[in-house]
Amino acid sequence: MSIDKHKVVIVGYGGMGKQHVKKITETDRIELVGVFDIEEEPQKTAQENGHHTYLSFEDVLSDDQVEIVLIATPNDSHKDIAIRAIKAGKHVICEKPVTLNSQELEEILEVAETHQKVFAVHQNRRWDEDFLSIKKLYDENALGEAFSIEQRIHGSRGIPGDWRHQKEYGGGMMLDWGVHLIDRITIMVKEKIKSVYCKMSYVLGNEVDDGFKLVLTFESGKTAVFEVGTSHYLSLPIWFMTGTTGTAVIHDWNMNGKVAKLMTHEDRDATPIEAGAGLTKTMAPRGENTVNEFPIPRVATDIRDFYYNFMDVIEGKAELAVKNSDVLRVMKIMEAAFESSELNQVVNFE
Ligand code: NAD
Repeated sequence: MSIDKHKVVIVGYGGMGKQHVKKITETDRIELVGVFDIEEEPQKTAQENGHHTYLSFEDVLSDDQVEIVLIATPNDSHKDIAIRAIKAGKHVICEKPVTLNSQELEEILEVAETHQKVFAVHQNRRWDEDFLSIKKLYDENALGEAFSIEQRIHGSRGIPGDWRHQKEYGGGMMLDWGVHLIDRITIMVKEKIKSVYCKMSYVLGNEVDDGFKLVLTFESGKTAVFEVGTSHYLSLPIWFMTGTTGTAVIHDWNMNGKVAKLMTHEDRDATPIEAGAGLTKTMAPRGENTVNEFPIPRVATDIRDFYYNFMDVIEGKAELAVKNSDVLRVMKIMEAAFESSELNQVVNFE
């Protein structure tokens, strides 16, 4: 056991708690010293898996060797656990969505500021390769000026688990997936958002949304379209981005996809073609070699960098990679999305 390692306890030993155990075990400079779950079964499983378990959350808080509390419990409990941990002198890593609304996050941030503790949200999907490849194309203007960015997550298994079906626990797909998708776009497109339009879907009959369609319109007029669906037996591509001189598509998490780039402005005018029951010039295919196809650029990424950054911040060597101001903005965008869906109206934003 190295004295340099930062000691962490995971609170909530469910799906994501176990995933953090796995990643932390693969990460230097951080050491898991125990687990706490309010339910007996996960506590037992944690012991069987060789982890020290705390008998209560108070025991976690009063253990002086514990420097970091990592929260992987249902969404409604994040605020209370975070505030108690910070007040007990711990730094906190919190799962997404950080809280149920922006006001709860503001409360946590105030306490973190008062107690001078680091509070960070695990927006891990910033480290997804599909996103980083799209961001690279966007940042390098590889498609000209990108004006339409679409992200889709389509599944057919409905809302998973138990608490995700219920509003009081912070269930629903906007809080579950929307938070990731919006987070990624808002760190990529560095513009003010003019308006938000959203239509939630309730096809499964739950009290929470089982999917949604969301459109953000930025100051320059570019749009980001998001769609999450849990009753989709076929999936549209996870990314579709179009710029003035190119288009990129990524079909799936295996990075199948391609980039098409305009090579010459010649051949602008086409001979009309018969298409379906009609005739079209506008949609006629381009001539050979006027648009070429390229592979999606690959980007090396490692989610362990999230934990390394957190430790660097604790040691005063870096700023948070996932800034709390960004997280707060995402919470506000989701609030505007709920408002838009309820009113069936476009909502003005910043
Ligand atoms: P889960 O239901 O599988 O596990 C939650 C665990 O927390 C359960 O074992 C439950 O008994 C325990 N728990 C509940 N209240 C508690 C409390 N007050 N104190 C201690 N333990 C408590 O849920 P999950 O899928 O692991 O989700 C947990 C969190 O992780 C959620 O916020 C979710 O949004 C997030 N999550 C993030 C990702 C990601 O990729 N970042 C993926 C999945 C889940």
